[in-house]
Amino acid sequence: MDFFPIFFDIKQKPCLVIGGGEVAARKVSLLLKAHSTVTVVSPKLSRELADWHEEGKLTHIARDFEDADIDQPVLVIAATDNRDVNKRASELAQARGIPVNVVDDPALCSFITPSIVDRSPVQIAISTGGASPVLARMIRTKLEGCIPAAYGRLGALVSDFREKVKAKFTNVDQRRAFWESVLDSTVADRVYSGHEDEAAEALQQAIDAADSNPKFKGEVYLVGAGPGDPDLLTFRALRLMQSCDVMVYDRLVSPAIRELVRRDAELIYVGKARDKHTMQQENINELLVRLAKEGKRVLRLKGGDPFIFGRGGEEIELLAQEGIPFQVVPGITAAAGCASYAGIPLTHRDYSQACVFVTGHLKDGTVDLNWPALAQPNQTVVFYMGLHGAPTLCKEMIGHGLPPSTPVALVQKGTTPDQKTVIATLDTLEETLRTHTFEPPTLIIVGEVVSLKEKLDWFNPEDPQGQAVKAGRW
Ligand code: SAH
Repeated sequence: MDFFPIFFDIKQKPCLVIGGGEVAARKVSLLLKAHSTVTVVSPKLSRELADWHEEGKLTHIARDFEDADIDQPVLVIAATDNRDVNKRASELAQARGIPVNVVDDPALCSFITPSIVDRSPVQIAISTGGASPVLARMIRTKLEGCIPAAYGRLGALVSDFREKVKAKFTNVDQRRAFWESVLDSTVADRVYSGHEDEAAEALQQAIDAADSNPKFKGEVYLVGAGPGDPDLLTFRALRLMQSCDVMVYDRLVSPAIRELVRRDAELIYVGKARDKHTMQQENINELLVRLAKEGKRVLRLKGGDPFIFGRGGEEIELLAQEGIPFQVVPGITAAAGCASYAGIPLTHRDYSQACVFVTGHLKDGTVDLNWPALAQPNQTVVFYMGLHGAPTLCKEMIGHGLPPSTPVALVQKGTTPDQKTVIATLDTLEETLRTHTFEPPTLIIVGEVVSLKEKLDWFNPEDPQGQAVKAGRW
């Protein structure tokens, strides 16, 4: 984050605008909307600024900028076409700790102004950190289209009732639950259809009828977050991520996905890296129970699918035992995600009629798997957690009858910008692992389908544009 977003109260406070042209006028118009006391320093004023001056909306100092002008204001905007003047104003303001913006000159700014969607009292500010104002405006246009103007009126209604609701519900979680139910009810519909009086009446009734101390029931959402790319989340996963009170997550959940969880949800990290479990599984199970019993909506976010090598079953067993409500949301498992993004169909009529997902995690250095069943022709075998034991896995597959030339793919951090794929064969994999460094999470795909990658590869994480071109979409 290059800039820290804040909303600044400048009501009745002095703001200085240096420059009197069209650009300055745009800024002055915003400052006036925020009810600040605006002074414009400029020998001349644009027609619009002159009108506002005549209407008594601003003070005009009709001369060039002087150093002493910087003494008063809480905010400075420099919009002259003389860079030296802008620079001088910026330096003086920054030396005094006064926030300053120089229009179209990021190097001289201590703050930048966002694109704004104004549904007062609701304000949405969009910034690309100066990277692309055009992109910010495009996003704004989209939001303008999909956020009804009535949201502003809804915000105003809520504001009128805030104190009443605060007095009724002393518990923050209960208060939030009340507002969530109200804002998704006929109260909001009434506002949207222009019936504010009825909406206010309905809201008052809802407050009167609500139990001020309800038995607030917690719930656990066991949610699959997919293999890494946030675009692969399900709608339901996203909805629950944005409504939870607390998130319990582990290492496999990518930062890009964690970003999408409700901002003020509490975050609890529980591990796990191989051999150094941050929290024992039993403790995680108990943690979920405890949080839910506190009345919280608990998001247990897991990489991939929670029921595929995710110990999701164990986690909800205890919840079921304790009578705690829960729901399970499937996710795209690593095998599906990595195979797709590596251009390897897991089944194919000509090569493979079956696909097996198996854990390659070695207990005490040995793998206790049904090797004869795994080492079958016309079958794809996907090893999860197999990186550490890969040489053993390959030896066993060969030892149980698969040709040593059977192709193998290693996919590291599949579906993310760090995806790396290397192709080997059962008898060269050990050597490949010596020459390439791989980090977890890495998936191993064994079977003839791997050879299709050469033809079907489409995802190039280093060239996001190329991905689509290769895939023939554009
Ligand atoms: N529940 C998860 C699997 C958890 S087991 C799922 O359904 O995907 C952890 C193993 O999954 C890792 O050791 C690795 O083999 C595999 N894995 C998970 N995410 C991966 C990714 N983005 N890229 C490659 N392998 C991944």
